[in-house]
Amino acid sequence: MESIDELLRRAEAAHGHLCAGQILGVRMALLGLERLGITDPRGADRKRLVTYVEIDRCATDAIGLVTGCRLGKRALKFRDWGKMAATFVDLASGRGIRIVALDGSRMLASRLYPHLETESRQQMQAYRDLSDNELFREQWVRVAVGPAELPGYKAERVVCPRCGESVNFGRLAEVDGERFCLSCARPELRYWEPDKSEL
Ligand SMILES: [Zn+2]
Ligand SMILES: [Zn+2]
Repeated sequence: MESIDELLRRAEAAHGHLCAGQILGVRMALLGLERLGITDPRGADRKRLVTYVEIDRCATDAIGLVTGCRLGKRALKFRDWGKMAATFVDLASGRGIRIVALDGSRMLASRLYPHLETESRQQMQAYRDLSDNELFREQWVRVAVGPAELPGYKAERVVCPRCGESVNFGRLAEVDGERFCLSCARPELRYWEPDKSEL
């Protein structure tokens, strides 16, 4: 594994800036990998790891960078729970470690580094200096990653009879005995609606 400084340099380049979230995300991912005994997540161990992230903030980019888990490889899973937390799952054993960043470290940061001018600088220093214990809470968990959720899984594509769009791996829902894509089956859950001004 690269040093934390090397990882932070790469995180900064990928994310666009160095911030408290990058440092926290790098630390969180390194701890998760260490607990799972994964030493080469982007090389020899790249097929062993799936990561669930629970927030769409800066730290998420750093977690993806360190673990090598990406949305496009089906190895990064996003659960929009608004929590600074992530679960690192070893597919070889089915065991996962869920790590939550403790809010207390923010308070600690301003107490420890009052001489640093901004809250962000105080946090960046704290996220470098504090121990894993002070920064995180961890819990061993089991995660059932279904076949269609696994990186590399392949299965048939089905055409939705209502919209005509193709859908991967059974992401369909039944309505009145017919199977439709999720958007057609549950239009109330769509994130989009037709733009009527374009009609
Ligand atoms: Zn950032
Ligand atoms: Zn459809």
